[in-house]
This record gives sequence, C-alpha cells and structure tokens, in this order.
Amino acid sequence: MQVGTNLPKVGTFNRAVVLEAIQVSDGISRVQIAERTGLTAQTVSVIVRRLLEEGLVIEDGSLPSSGGKPRTILRVDPAAGYAVGIHFDPGEVSYVLADLAGEPVTKLHTELRPGLSPEAVVRQMAATARNMLQDAGVPDGKVLGIGLACPGPLDADGVMNDPPRLPGWDEVPIKRLLEEHTGFPVTFDNDASAAAIGERWAGLARSTPSFAYLYLGTGIGGGLFLDNQIYRGRSLNAAEFGHITVVPEGPECYCGNRGCVEAVCCPSAVEATFRARLATGVPAPADHAAICAAAAAGDPLAVEVIGEVAARLADAAVSIVNMLDIDLLVLGGPAMHEAAGIYRQVIADAVATRPLARRLHKVQVEISPIAADAAAIGAASLVFHATYAPRLGTLLTS
Ligand SMILES: [Zn+2]
Repeated sequence: MQVGTNLPKVGTFNRAVVLEAIQVSDGISRVQIAERTGLTAQTVSVIVRRLLEEGLVIEDGSLPSSGGKPRTILRVDPAAGYAVGIHFDPGEVSYVLADLAGEPVTKLHTELRPGLSPEAVVRQMAATARNMLQDAGVPDGKVLGIGLACPGPLDADGVMNDPPRLPGWDEVPIKRLLEEHTGFPVTFDNDASAAAIGERWAGLARSTPSFAYLYLGTGIGGGLFLDNQIYRGRSLNAAEFGHITVVPEGPECYCGNRGCVEAVCCPSAVEATFRARLATGVPAPADHAAICAAAAAGDPLAVEVIGEVAARLADAAVSIVNMLDIDLLVLGGPAMHEAAGIYRQVIADAVATRPLARRLHKVQVEISPIAADAAAIGAASLVFHATYAPRLGTLLTS
C-alpha cells in the first residue's frame, strides 16, 4: 500500500533538499538551486533565509549574472557542526573528526588488541572520541553526534551479529553502549554503506543520482545509492557485493556460498595465492600491501595474481552494472593500496564492453579520493546525512 503525506512534512523535506543542493555543489546561487531542485524561487528564498538565520549556510561572494544583479554564492558553513566518525575494523579502529562539509579536522588510528572485551573496546572508542573533540576545541553544543561504521551483519537497532573475524562479538548492542559511554547520539551503518555515504556527502559522487561503491577492506563489501537515496535493504545488509559468485565451484566462503568475490579477492586470499605460486627459496613479500606494490612496479608474479583479482572484481562489477543500471562505480577502502590503478583499468574496460546497456550510457569507474579513510570519513558523514539529507522515507512515515 502506498502512503500519503501532509504539508508540514513537505516543508521539512524541501528544506533538506535545498541544504543538500548547497552541500553537493561547490558554491551555488538561489537561482541555480531553484533550477536544480524544481522548487519555486520564492520557496528557495524562504528556506535559504532560515538556513542563514540558523547558521548552517553562509553567503560567500557572488557570481556575475547576465543582465541582472550579481548572484550571491551559498555554501554550507563547515564550522556549523561537527561529528566524530569511527571505523571499527577487526584489526584497527580509525577516527576522523569532520566538519559539516565532511572535511577531516583530525584523524587517528589505534590498533585493536586481540581478545579485548566489547565493553573495553567501546570504552576506548568513547575516550578517544572525547579526547579528539577536546583537543580540537569543539564544544559539546556543536557536536551533531558520533558516526560508527562496523563490520556487518548489523541489525536495525545497532546490534552486531557475529561478524566474521571478531569472535565474541555476537549480540553486542554497540550503538547503545557507545551512546551510554559518550553521551552523544550514535548513527551507525556497515563500513561499506558508510563509505558510500561519505562519497555522496563529501567525495566524488556528490552529484551522481545512482552509484555503487565497491569497498575493499579486510573483507569486500558494497554500498548503494539509487535515485539519490541510500539503499540499505530489508535488514541494512544490501549491496553485499563481496558475496557474488565469480568462481563457480570455487573455494567455500564463510557466508555459506562458494567462489565468492571475497573468498578469492580479499587480502588474505591474495596472500595465500601468491605464496602458493612462489618458487621455492624465493623470499615472499611481507603482506598484501607489498604484493600490491610489487604488482604496480611490474613484478611478473604479482602482476599475474593481482590481474586475476582485478578480473574477478570486473566480473562482479559487470553483474552489478547489469542489475542496477548505475552511472558510476566508485572503488575504495583501505585494501586498495597501490593496486588501485590496475583494478580501475580492468574494471573500466569490462563495464565499457560487457553490460547490456553499454551503448546507451557510459559507466564511470573512479578511485575514491579518500580511499584509505573512506569508512571513517563516511562514518562522520552518516551523522550529517541522517540529520540533513532529504529522505523520501521521512515524507511517508507517520
Ligand atoms: Zn561469501
């Protein structure tokens, strides 16, 4: 059943539409906002006046216009609010204090000692977030919240459900625990969706209506924006691109499937393949990052192994493009390392030549400019997105 809406909700939605139009542009006038959003000049003018009064938006110079008076440029005021983004990876925790424009003010990484209890980890996260805010001189009144990017599966209440590589983290209500320890509201998502939201708020997908994010970390995941809305699925676990089968009858994956992208392309699988093919007596590169660096430098075995990984990622990318008919595929995450250029080339060639709709429109493939910190910056952006992004859902729920 479709649900209707009432006028007060339309006002809130339009306010978010205008604020988003300002955030995703690099400076925009009232006239341009009206052109891009379809709102009347009068509606835009009223909303912008309120945003200026609230201090969320500033006037920043003017653009010459043809004939009439110069047009004032509007931007989001970066100092209007802050969020701490926390990326919780099984190996380390990354923190970013970001301003409202999504720009990092400070960053920090801490190693995660194996075997720490969930309670101890959350206490450490809360203390670190508090210290970052204090060191940067951000008062509590300017903190919009904490954003938390966690390995999935996650449920809608912010409970972690036995994520791979984190034994002992079953049924952990991490959102509630972090709220109790920090006193700030916590917005959470899985790491790949957070990275996609970061790319939308502050990265290269700011004005792209439909894009997919392929996230390479300890595992492989994805995030999805369709028609300007984040798509999370029934249980917040949509876009698990890492579990598309790319090798029929391939190795078993922990998810229960076989030959998944993650099972053959994740850093530990790359290391295992590389070592298995290395001639006896030849010293092995230290780790996955070293193998990526060797491939970028032209080492024949590294080129062979990384080339195969790129080809499997490309198979998955073609399926993603065929299924979703998107404009842009963003590659990011901390495990891209120096192989990013190889992945981009192989995937771009595949989506230019193999999807059914390739003659109708080109699919861009881009490397995230914030690849290494994507999930932490994305986590901070979760807060801004939850607070200010126009969501159709808010129009329809009672
Ligand atoms: Zn799998």
